Amino acid sequence: MTGPAPTAVVDARGRIKRKLRVSLTDRCNLRCHYCMPEHPRWLPRAELMSNAELLRLVGLFVRTLGITELRLTGGEPLLRADVPALVSELGALRSEGLQRIALTSNGVRLAPVAQALLDAGLDDLNVSLDSITPAVFTALTRGQIEPVLQGIEAAMAAGLPLKLNSVVIKGANEGEVLPLMQWAKARGLPLRFIEFMPLDGRQGWANDKVVTEDEIIAHLAPHHRLEKLPRSSDPATYYRVDGDYRIGVISTISKPFCASCDRLRLDARGRLYTCLFSAVETDLLTPLRAGASDAELLALIRTAVWNKPAGYAEQPGYVERPITMHHLGG
Ligand code: SAM
Ligand code: SF4
Repeated sequence: MTGPAPTAVVDARGRIKRKLRVSLTDRCNLRCHYCMPEHPRWLPRAELMSNAELLRLVGLFVRTLGITELRLTGGEPLLRADVPALVSELGALRSEGLQRIALTSNGVRLAPVAQALLDAGLDDLNVSLDSITPAVFTALTRGQIEPVLQGIEAAMAAGLPLKLNSVVIKGANEGEVLPLMQWAKARGLPLRFIEFMPLDGRQGWANDKVVTEDEIIAHLAPHHRLEKLPRSSDPATYYRVDGDYRIGVISTISKPFCASCDRLRLDARGRLYTCLFSAVETDLLTPLRAGASDAELLALIRTAVWNKPAGYAEQPGYVERPITMHHLGG
């Protein structure tokens, strides 16, 4: 590592931050109803961080603030040109303490770039797949499942470490829990189910639409032998299935893990969100463009992180704020 060792960035509740999620764009080629408003209004391109601006901010988080894990997200990150080149440039931060570069994608545009992402040094890829039944997939996303399955196949063929993420919503894809798990298990693909969070921006969320961890497990238990594994610092609770496979459940709503949250989020406009459920943002890009020094940007970041709210656990319910999941990145 070059330069002085980073100083951990910590909030007033003592939670040290290690992970940063960066949204590359708010745009998307799907329209998952749980994620974005009916008629999304895309941000003007000039307001999005350039690669150089993104690299400068991420560099500060890694070099000076001790962030070790980075996840690129969106919107759909693969809509942005040259993601492999960006991954490769971010790789230079490995000598400054960065340990992992990951990406979350809907998989639609994955097939042609899977090999290039691996070659660029991507460590870990999450693909969202909420259904394995074409009609249910289309009802949820307004897109086609075929390119996503091709993307998954291409990533597996390239040897990219791959996980599937699946949001489960009552009345929409609850019936997919078992077939999805069996499909993923047959391919040896790790799968995590995610509880529906109140971040859709169209008031579609309600507590009774959340399929909780216990309910997800109840769908699987009559058909498979499940064994709950001890919890780690990972946000998911893991279960061994039939002794030779593992699924996770991210139970943000029914069993929030805010007390151990080690994440920060940067939206595509370079605004820092210290909590997925917070309405407070700290604009880093405007000062950066106005010539702020690293010390000035770091002071803004440290203050924002210090004031990170307790999280969903203390303020459950619908989140009223100007940006939704597709803008901030899950
Ligand atoms: N477009 C990419 C994708 O779909 O993977 C990356 C961005 S998407 C916002 C990241 C993750 O957030 C996806 O796994 C998606 O399923 C999840 N997500 C979006 N809205 C959600 C919600 N309301 N509740 C829970 N998860 C949500
Ligand atoms: Fe797009 Fe991902 Fe949101 Fe679906 S979950 S609308 S793919 S950003």
